Amino acid sequence: MNEQKTENKYIILFERIAQENNIKYEYHFKSNVGRAIIKERKILISKPINRDRFFIALHEIGHIIQGEIKPRYKEEYLSEQFAICKMREFKIPLSRKARARSKGFIKYSVRKAKRRGLKKLNNKVKSFIKWKTKH
Ligand SMILES: [Zn+2]
Repeated sequence: MNEQKTENKYIILFERIAQENNIKYEYHFKSNVGRAIIKERKILISKPINRDRFFIALHEIGHIIQGEIKPRYKEEYLSEQFAICKMREFKIPLSRKARARSKGFIKYSVRKAKRRGLKKLNNKVKSFIKWKTKH
């Protein structure tokens, strides 16, 4: 597939989802990061030119659609699940790097929650972070 076409596919798809869900977006970053400003229904991302960035954009959309959830690690987990489901729906396989990062990111959120006194971890989250990533 031609490189230009591949880039466009993700951008077009992303912009359509954002529009359908009334989400404002700004191509604000140049690296694989994102932020969601739930109150403003706005996300800051880098242009989703590839599937890894598209996946991150979906995660941020997940934050907006689901709204604020306590505890925070659960909000991160559910946004991540939203993104994973959407990728499956669009039949876009997650890269190995993205899968590993996904798991690592939720682990990090859980560690933070534990430091803040989390005693009992949600079972679904527990099995997600135990999920083996293939090499
Ligand atoms: Zn997040």
